[in-house]
Amino acid sequence: MTCCRVCGTKIEAFMSFGAMPIANGFLSPDEIGGEYFFELAPAFCDGCGMFQLIDQPAPEKMFHENYAFYSSTSRHMQTHFKDFAGMVIQRVFAGRTDPFVVELGSNDGIMLRNFKEAGYLHLGVEPSSNVADVAREQGIRTISEFFNLELAKKIVAEHGHADAVLSANVMCHIPDINGVAAGIAYLLKKDGVLMFEDPYLGSMIEKTSYDQIYDEHVFIFSGTSVGAAFGRHGLELIDLLPQTTHGGSMRYVLAPKGSHPISPNVSMILEKERAQGLHQPETYAAFKANCEQSRSDLVGLLRSLKEQGKRVVGYAATSKSTTVTNYCGIGPDLIEYISDTTPIKQGKLTPGTHIPVKPYETFQEKMPDYALLFAWNHAVEIFEKEQIFKAKGGKWITFVPQVGIVE
Ligand SMILES: [Zn+2]
Repeated sequence: MTCCRVCGTKIEAFMSFGAMPIANGFLSPDEIGGEYFFELAPAFCDGCGMFQLIDQPAPEKMFHENYAFYSSTSRHMQTHFKDFAGMVIQRVFAGRTDPFVVELGSNDGIMLRNFKEAGYLHLGVEPSSNVADVAREQGIRTISEFFNLELAKKIVAEHGHADAVLSANVMCHIPDINGVAAGIAYLLKKDGVLMFEDPYLGSMIEKTSYDQIYDEHVFIFSGTSVGAAFGRHGLELIDLLPQTTHGGSMRYVLAPKGSHPISPNVSMILEKERAQGLHQPETYAAFKANCEQSRSDLVGLLRSLKEQGKRVVGYAATSKSTTVTNYCGIGPDLIEYISDTTPIKQGKLTPGTHIPVKPYETFQEKMPDYALLFAWNHAVEIFEKEQIFKAKGGKWITFVPQVGIVE
């Protein structure tokens, strides 16, 4: 029997994506045979509304030594976090003396840099020491530990309570959400504010963007489930702010119960979630059917292009593409290679399906007839960058919200 990680209610998977390798486990040809697989199966909790994975691989399987994702490599994300920090300064720090901000999973300091530059007291908590070192080299105060109540007590003893606790694309990775919420509730001042953002369940259901589901994303949050999870620790939603990042995210704003006025956005979005049926099993049965349809449409399209003798490659080897290629059974027979700009992935094979990952230059030198856009959430930027591909007659294939050729 599996129990909800938040409230302990018995949960059962409503579908399975099958045996799945580690989403970021790109491997060399000589590592074939030693791959680790687990069953990727999501569940929805009737008790608290939390969407979660039944099983998650052990952390040491997911975050091996050469795992290094540096947030600051994307200029788009730099702007996004500058705006996020600006909002905190304006909305939370106004009228406060020497406000103190803590960020959980601060990565290479992409967000905290903005607080440091404006002269604010800040502290990053980043367990991956290789990325934390990059932040420290820039003078951003960072500790490399896992956040929980014990660490919260240590931080308070040393620096005092925090005016703001922030995180981005981190909270949904942490299985012990109760431990983290208890730590945050302790760390915050009585009128402190917690703001975090993660991929949004409402967007995923709406777009059938099932590629949000992979090992690291143990939860996909909604306003309803976040309100319930943090409510257990005395925090309440005071605002909900939809974001366009990662194909549809939500910024959750919470504070100790009764300490802040509640924005009308909260009841509006919770009502929208009810209308969308995020609390009903039927919604997940429909999502499952939509995933199956998407799979058969995508495989059907790739097979038909193959029969016509067309060259098809993948564009961007992401964690998300691991779910798509494995669930759909798309291997090198249907996709010649996947082009990616990340040096560490080049020359390797995709997890589970073993499609070669080649440098971006390969795509530029011999452009294919079709490119399957795995990074569909960056479609606007990519289409703008790849105008030559289009001018040469190249066509894009997308699968979110529907499988098709982009005209
Ligand atoms: Zn639950």
